[in-house]
Amino acid sequence: MPILVMKFGGTSVANLDRIRRAAKRVGVEVAKGYDVIVIVSAMSGKTNELVGWVNETSPLFDAREYDAVVSSGENVTAGLMALTLQEMDVPARSWQGWQVPLKTNDSHAAARIEEIPTDNILAKFGEGMRVAVVAGFQGIGPDGRITTLGRGGSDTTAVAFAAAFEAERCDIYTDVDGVYTTDPRICSKARKLDKIAFEEMLELASLGAKVLQTRSVELAMRFGVRLRVLSSFEEQSDDAGTLVCAEEDIMESNVVAGVAYSRDEAKLTLISVADRPGIAAIIFSALSDAGVNVDMIVQNIAEEGRTDMTFSCPTSEVARAEQALAAIKDDGVLNFAEVIADEAVAKISVVGIGMRSQSGVAARMFKVLSDEGINIKVITTSEIKISVLIDRKYMELAVQALHDAFELDKAS
Ligand code: ASP
Ligand code: MG
Repeated sequence: MPILVMKFGGTSVANLDRIRRAAKRVGVEVAKGYDVIVIVSAMSGKTNELVGWVNETSPLFDAREYDAVVSSGENVTAGLMALTLQEMDVPARSWQGWQVPLKTNDSHAAARIEEIPTDNILAKFGEGMRVAVVAGFQGIGPDGRITTLGRGGSDTTAVAFAAAFEAERCDIYTDVDGVYTTDPRICSKARKLDKIAFEEMLELASLGAKVLQTRSVELAMRFGVRLRVLSSFEEQSDDAGTLVCAEEDIMESNVVAGVAYSRDEAKLTLISVADRPGIAAIIFSALSDAGVNVDMIVQNIAEEGRTDMTFSCPTSEVARAEQALAAIKDDGVLNFAEVIADEAVAKISVVGIGMRSQSGVAARMFKVLSDEGINIKVITTSEIKISVLIDRKYMELAVQALHDAFELDKAS
């Protein structure tokens, strides 16, 4: 029988009533003839509560015990989902990660999946079981201890199961009804997309569109897993939600698929740094050693052997960045004059695979921003994305203006 993976996020299993609703959806797919692998998150808010308990007990916690605690939310929902299905006379049982076993590396709290053997679950399907309910987010490390995949990791669990079992599709049930051209909370004209290419979804996910964990999209792209994002609160239909799929499966699309933003960005500039080979290596090694996630980097043209170097990072990491830079300021090599931090910037990006074949998108984007009187501070581009840093107070305006200019409210 064909296999379908259905993943339910925290809001979709937030209480017994919602678990019942989710189970009914599973029942519908079973009735169609699928063997279903259900991946569940913890009830919404549960993982945050568990993380809070760990931090309160032990601020410098042992990551193996952190995983033992925070993985437990999924155990509860997996068992309850299996029980609910059994009450509906659907043959089902639950699996915790270690029972599958979903094998990971030993990076506790941020583990990577290494292997998912399929024999155990397939044997049960062979015996007439119709639904395998698997606790998302968790696995077992080489040391035999429980691991977790990082926050939001049950999306990645779901895609990995879909790849391992060659599932027909991986449906991700969540509290939004799909992927939008931009965030509907800041742009009322945002439109739900019927389809989006893996590459575009990857850019949107990493740029702050929070529907899917970035790693899950990477994995789906690598293994060609068709992903559908849909709401568990709305009526079920076969074309509901957004299909995340290969570019070839999309007949026609707008040049720009979406506008993404990221609010909490900061821009730091080192004034008058010596311009010599090895300087950037020193600066960015120091930042990386300090755990600063540098995003955009711009180096100005040098004058008389000195230059300015600008980079961006999350606002929450500014203090750490300043500390790391202060430590190398007077090392006799860089001798920069000062660091200027601008902590009130936001990043706006337009994303679309159509940019590969159509030029002029950047020019249009810059014109739109200039017409609104918005100054661009830093620009970076990739093959399918253009990002700018602007003053945070213009963030909403910029998103709305770009959404209008690229006519994202209209389907192609
Ligand atoms: N429950 C975990 C979290 O909140 C994993 C997930 O829901 O994806 O991060
Ligand atoms: Mg999630």
